[in-house]
Amino acid sequence: MDAVDIAAVCAHPDDAELVMGGTIAREAARGRRVALVDLTRGESGSRGTPETRAAEAAEAARILGAAHRESLGLPDARLSLVPEHKDPLVEAIRRLRPRVVLLQHWEQRHPDHAAASRIVYDACFLAGLRNYRPDLGPAFRPVKLAYAATMTEANDLRPAFVVDVTEVWETKLRAIAAFASQFVPAPGEKGVLPLDRFREAVELFGRRHGQRIGVRYGEGFVTREPLAVDDLLALGGSSF
Ligand SMILES: [Zn+2]
Repeated sequence: MDAVDIAAVCAHPDDAELVMGGTIAREAARGRRVALVDLTRGESGSRGTPETRAAEAAEAARILGAAHRESLGLPDARLSLVPEHKDPLVEAIRRLRPRVVLLQHWEQRHPDHAAASRIVYDACFLAGLRNYRPDLGPAFRPVKLAYAATMTEANDLRPAFVVDVTEVWETKLRAIAAFASQFVPAPGEKGVLPLDRFREAVELFGRRHGQRIGVRYGEGFVTREPLAVDDLLALGGSSF
């Protein structure tokens, strides 16, 4: 696997599609090499087998135009801040060498998502330490981490930047729909969210962020540090 420009690292297959799928599709369409890294195989979810979800994840990556997708196979629903859960990602970061890493926000309803956020931060930091586990590859640290706004965020979360994903919105929806097993009830399960209801939630998320920058669909991201600006005239998004 050659180095990539961007890595999107989330807890479960289909997490990335929901909150950063448009951004991935847009960067890929620009010719950037994007890798999707799933920390787990989502085996604790009630719907779909790990094999089905792996096939769906591969299809979704193809739709988004990602150059690479892999699962680290960490235990679903048991992600925690232990070296055993960080080191496989340290190895992946050193191998993939992304300049930018997209990850989940640290405040989350699902404990795995919150844990994933911390695991990714820690692994990116540790990957840059020359004397930390040299057996996991040569030291490398990404430059920028961007945390995706969550689907269920409070409305007062202000993104540091919003990516205009209007042109790739249909691509994002197709990538989400690739996870077909998630939209059919498991044996004995009632009341699964049907795809069209789910699409409404995704639509609302995209519209809310798009509105912030005056476009139809957007995906918002937060950074912990201010963004550096080189050219005032390149600043996007109207103040009015
Ligand atoms: Zn998830």
